[in-house]
Amino acid sequence: MSNHSKAFDLRQFQQHMAETYGDKDRERGVAGTFMYLMEEIGELSEALRQPGQHDLEGEFADCLAWLTSLAHVADIDLAAATAQKYTGICNRCGQSPCICKSKP
Ligand SMILES: [Zn+2]
Repeated sequence: MSNHSKAFDLRQFQQHMAETYGDKDRERGVAGTFMYLMEEIGELSEALRQPGQHDLEGEFADCLAWLTSLAHVADIDLAAATAQKYTGICNRCGQSPCICKSKP
């Protein structure tokens, strides 16, 4: 993590993204915005395979930004949805750290 990171508020970020890009994102719609997210996921994949040739931190940020934009277009409060589903313990075993058998 970079040393200039400060407390990050996902709800505030979604509002900021909506104010900055919301009109364009809504005009593009869910399908088009989803395709941009998938494009960024692909770029993240490339960056993970060849980190020296890509901006790995930037690709992570791009993925979160597009996911956040997509949530806005789909009328999803990403912070609330995430907080409700990921409460700090594993959904299945109820433990932290999780003691479930790992997926391969
Ligand atoms: Zn578990």
